Amino acid sequence: MAESEIVKKLIEINGEQQVSMSEPMSRHTTFRIGGPAKVFVSPDNIEKIIKTIELLKKEEMEYFILGNGSNLLVADEGYTGIIVSTENIKSASIEKEDGELTYICAEAGAMLSKVSVLAAESSLTGFEFAGGIPGTIGGAVSMNAGAYGGEIKDVIVSADVLMEDGKVIRFTKDELELSYRNSIIQKEKQLIVLAAEFAFKKGNKSEILAKMKDFSQRRRDKQPLEYASAGSTFKRPEGYFAGKLIDDAGLRGYRVGNVMVSEKHCGFVVNVGGGTCEEAKAVIAHVKDEVEKQFGVTLELEVRKLGWQ
Ligand SMILES: Cc1cc2nc3c(=O)[nH]c(=O)nc-3n(C[C@H](O)[C@H](O)[C@H](O)COP(=O)(O)OP(=O)(O)OC[C@H]3O[C@@H](n4cnc5c(N)ncnc54)[C@H](O)[C@@H]3O)c2cc1C
Repeated sequence: MAESEIVKKLIEINGEQQVSMSEPMSRHTTFRIGGPAKVFVSPDNIEKIIKTIELLKKEEMEYFILGNGSNLLVADEGYTGIIVSTENIKSASIEKEDGELTYICAEAGAMLSKVSVLAAESSLTGFEFAGGIPGTIGGAVSMNAGAYGGEIKDVIVSADVLMEDGKVIRFTKDELELSYRNSIIQKEKQLIVLAAEFAFKKGNKSEILAKMKDFSQRRRDKQPLEYASAGSTFKRPEGYFAGKLIDDAGLRGYRVGNVMVSEKHCGFVVNVGGGTCEEAKAVIAHVKDEVEKQFGVTLELEVRKLGWQ
């Protein structure tokens, strides 16, 4: 099928409003970096995302699943495939109570902040850690996101996953193989999280809200939230902290063009305005080289790459 026919089919499935061409990825990443995606589609329910993926697979089109783009560095040239965004698949609700546990079900595109507020408002404890992570449920399951001693692994029960053959399978927590910033979703590139179920215990609402407030204050104090970034650039190397190694290597404030190692928190590479992927790559490469050279520690990127190697 010709590409224009595929776009027509995507519009048939999703409606004209949900399909755009040459969409700048800088608008869809918290790093504010990235050239145009050839086609950008945002299905507004699970049935439509399944049909969209079925079409793209049948036509052997390359695609990428986008959450909130908060852990992503996209090439300046953009992406020549099709971005399938979950931004419009975002409902979250209390599903059931069973004994001392209450279950929340959230669709892939629901923001962690929204789910943590839902849990807090319902006096459910365990999701306070996620309130300040600017990602979606799908991205967080894929990355096993975590902060302040909590991670997705602690509270997830299962996830509904679209398989390569088009079937939807419920993965248990164990089957998701969640580990430090990793999961089976990342290892098997074709898996797509459609929704996830979480279990929480009842807690004291004012204590839950106080904990969330404390975590967000700590973020504001320590993290360069005033600049665009993709969060921690590197994974935590075993036995070290990436930010401390980078600082000790003398790289605080190391800058190429408009991208630099944050002065406030060396674990963050920030875009001070108008930065490019090439600049970010240069900062990342230099940081990796220096840390390796000075301390013999290999830093591994936490940020996912799109459109570059
Ligand atoms: C200021 C700031 C602070 C941050 N703090 C933290 C923190 O404390 N802890 C932490 O863990 N992270 C943190 N992050 C990083 C980021 O928010 C998390 O990794 C988050 O889970 C990414 O979610 P996302 O929806 O933005 O995913 P995206 O960036 O859109 O995608 C990330 C990866 O997940 C995949 N993906 C997304 N949705 C799906 C889906 N439905 N199915 C399958 N794969 C999918 C993508 O293909 C990609 O490989 C921070 C980022 C920023 C900018």
